[in-house]
Amino acid sequence: MAQNDDAAYPRRGVPRAARHTPARLKTAARAFDARAAGMALKVLRREAASWNAPVLTLMAAEQDDPFKTLIGCILSLRTKDQTTAIAAARLFSIAATPRQVLAMAAGELEKAIYPVGFYRTKAGVIRGICRDLMERFDGQVPQRMEHLLTLKGVGRKTANLVITQAFRKPGICVDTHVHRISNRWGLVRTKTPEQTEAALRQVLPRRYWIELNELLVAFGQTICQPVSPFCSRCPVARRCPRIGVVRSR
Ligand code: SF4
Repeated sequence: MAQNDDAAYPRRGVPRAARHTPARLKTAARAFDARAAGMALKVLRREAASWNAPVLTLMAAEQDDPFKTLIGCILSLRTKDQTTAIAAARLFSIAATPRQVLAMAAGELEKAIYPVGFYRTKAGVIRGICRDLMERFDGQVPQRMEHLLTLKGVGRKTANLVITQAFRKPGICVDTHVHRISNRWGLVRTKTPEQTEAALRQVLPRRYWIELNELLVAFGQTICQPVSPFCSRCPVARRCPRIGVVRSR
């Protein structure tokens, strides 16, 4: 699979406005440096209690099982949070280990994860991962990035999520929200999530790495939304340079 995990599942129905490169909104604020980002994250941490936590964070916290976090992340690609949560719960009620998943018939697995996006493809990916885990890792999810990336269907986003959420080790999981908001803040100036991860590893102190995804995903879903962010009720608006934002509410 490609480095960007989502790329394996073609994007459909993206609004035209979300695709073009917007002009810059006039703002007096300067681009964030590490200190400004740290202060913004502190504010978001305080506000986060009133937002819904991302489904994968909830799953990791509730289940404390790296295998479930890994499979949950595969299910979540190109899929709504609520659909992921229901499908994951259904699957794990039937099979909660690589061995148990491999004991399921292909059709049974597809049925268990339906209607997540690309459920047939994902059923094949999940079986491949389970086979790999049994054959090469004694049925356990590896803790190291280089080992996780050898699993077919696991890209950097998924690997970083498993490392940070399941093992609570430093990593930077960059999804569409982290990529977009880091660029709006001017913390990075990048074109792809992979570039964003590499840039954030340079500029952001390690103490922020684990919580970054969790905070920015929830923030991106509720306030700093893709096409027209809610800047008027954003807790970090006063300092935000809003780079690339052409329309806001
Ligand atoms: S909502 Fe607006 S002000 Fe807040 S972080 Fe996003 S772009 Fe900046």
